[in-house]
Amino acid sequence: EPGRSWRLLIRQLGRGRALVRMIDRSDAVSAEKMRVDFVANASHELRTPLSTVLGYAETLADESDLPSELRLKFGGTIRDEAGRMLRIIEDLMSLSRIEADRFVAPSETVDLGQVVATCVSNASVVRNGRKCEFAVKIAPDLPMVRGDPGLLTQVFDNLLSNAVRYGCDRADAKVEVSTARHGRWVTVAVTDHGAGIPREHLPRVTERFYRVDAARSRESGGTGLGLAIVKHIVERHRGSLEIKSTVGVGTTVTVKIPVEA
Ligand code: ADP
Repeated sequence: EPGRSWRLLIRQLGRGRALVRMIDRSDAVSAEKMRVDFVANASHELRTPLSTVLGYAETLADESDLPSELRLKFGGTIRDEAGRMLRIIEDLMSLSRIEADRFVAPSETVDLGQVVATCVSNASVVRNGRKCEFAVKIAPDLPMVRGDPGLLTQVFDNLLSNAVRYGCDRADAKVEVSTARHGRWVTVAVTDHGAGIPREHLPRVTERFYRVDAARSRESGGTGLGLAIVKHIVERHRGSLEIKSTVGVGTTVTVKIPVEA
């Protein structure tokens, strides 16, 4: 019966539309939830050091006969915690700048090998009083990529500081950095031989404020935003980010950026 099949078809289409509406709505709900979570996390991350600063500042202001070593200790804590807040705010500003420029394609011609070499020479090599050695291999004749040199510098600064932060505990710690061309891509790999990242955490480490070990991240100056920034910048360059890690062996983070057309 032709009328029946039409009715059926129309009902199917209606269901399809309802499904599409449901998917749309659930996307909007999860985006909204992410935004709410983000604001809550950012407030919490800033409130913790701020409470410490206030507490010590009040003591300094109210206690006139505080021994000088306590005065120094409290002053030092205030400086460190204020520094942490500044780092968090700078990272948040970086993230929002990158998001605001989402639709502007990076347009300069960049020599990634040179960017990486500069980042390595500026990277801090001391962690907990231990020296961390860098072994760098820059492939000759690396093709140029199209990018934003400032943002790409931020990528490798972050990856190198993570490698030092989480990978340089042993006495003979070494961080390997290498660049290569693989077909249409220029790749940069940063490998450390630190504690590694447990498998169940791997998919989440690029989320804002996600940390495997929050105490360790904070103690070493982390903000929990580094890999989120890295991921955003790499995606803006139409590149990709891959993190491979084995607990007790170490971590390799590989950035791939397309060769300039
Ligand atoms: P953070 O400022 O805390 O280092 P990131 O966004 O850079 O923030 O990294 C998120 C988390 O991923 C870190 O807190 C740490 O737990 C883990 N991580 C990142 N890089 C490494 C690494 N090279 N080795 C081990 N863990 C790492």
